[in-house]
Amino acid sequence: MNDLTDPNPDAAHPQASDEKLQTFIGALDQSCVIVRTWDGVIQHWTAGCERLYGWTACQAVGQICQQLLKTKFAVPQEQIQAQLAATGSWAGELEHTRVDGTRLTISALWVVMRDAGNEPHLVIETQTDITAQVKMRRELETAHQQLTQIRNELERSNEELEEFARIASHDLSVPITSTRWLLDIFQERYTAQLDGEAQRCVDQISRSLAHMAELVEGVLAHARVGRESISSETTSDAGKAFASALDNLRSEIENTGADISSGPLPEVAAAPQALAQLFQNLLSNALKYRRQDIRPCITVSANQQDGMWLFAVRDNGIGIEAEWHERVFLPLQRVGSVSVSGSGIGLATCGKIVRRAGGRIWVESQPGTGSTFFFTLPASAVSLATANSSNGFMNL
Ligand code: ADP
Repeated sequence: MNDLTDPNPDAAHPQASDEKLQTFIGALDQSCVIVRTWDGVIQHWTAGCERLYGWTACQAVGQICQQLLKTKFAVPQEQIQAQLAATGSWAGELEHTRVDGTRLTISALWVVMRDAGNEPHLVIETQTDITAQVKMRRELETAHQQLTQIRNELERSNEELEEFARIASHDLSVPITSTRWLLDIFQERYTAQLDGEAQRCVDQISRSLAHMAELVEGVLAHARVGRESISSETTSDAGKAFASALDNLRSEIENTGADISSGPLPEVAAAPQALAQLFQNLLSNALKYRRQDIRPCITVSANQQDGMWLFAVRDNGIGIEAEWHERVFLPLQRVGSVSVSGSGIGLATCGKIVRRAGGRIWVESQPGTGSTFFFTLPASAVSLATANSSNGFMNL
């Protein structure tokens, strides 16, 4: 029976002490431990080593450890010896060969035992087989390299596509402008000589040209997104971007008599031109897709949420059916019944702007009631500090 007050209870019971030692030695024997001389001659070879390498203790004891196991070191051996002599231990990875010739990767810990004269005498090598982990690590590294390569290729081909779209839409706008100009001259000079059907044809050409110009402008704006470089230091004043969008939409606002208001808008980590484009596309849509029987009312607000700003652009327009809530963000997708002109690219461009800045965009809407477009943008360091100290940003 152990006396808990006795600091060395086994001392009075040598038999119990022996049993413990035997249990301990038995457990140690199951581990892969080699005891060898400083010169490498194996003195002790555990059952764990027999299992791992395939040689029995009789076969291994007396052999030179590194020769038997065909040890391969990742660093020069002299360096390991020097560390062993200086510090008394070394830990690292090495390769060993089994009796059947298969290679193993080993995580090793070597500890030096010194003799009475303090000279290195024995080395105890504890070995753990990490072949499977190393194989998995290499496979992961290869997969990671392949993924990086695919990502780089995708980025490159994306850039090429964008460049192509930019050049193509830019070049297309030249013949559209000159055709428009010629058509205007034609109408000016010859309208009087045209019969009803010819006039309808000219009107149709004029509408098609306007649609083509809108499409080309949309593609160009979409391709331009991302040409402004964005870094963690790039910040934009959302209030200024909103004001610039209002400026560009002045005539539409006057024509529709829309009531547009906003709460305080923060600084965000996004490119200024892209942010103005984002507001302009959303506000322009809110004006275009208004209800005819009601004055358009649009509100813009921003709230801080987990280090991001959550913006909401709310209108009281025609609304969007639930089945279209995701599709409207894809290029060239227009809700079937709309009669208002448009390219179907505006919201796709909004999505691209928001994603490039590290945010998300989505819509909540009820047909006949209105829509709210939400988007998140990373907060700039300044805006976070201001908002935390004053809590001054409000909901509308
Ligand atoms: P466009 O307006 O040029 O057609 P967008 O990509 O901006 O293209 O919008 C895609 C479609 O989403 C529009 O055709 C319209 O049907 C719908 N939509 C966009 N904004 C609104 C809105 N505020 N209210 C109702 N419908 C909208």
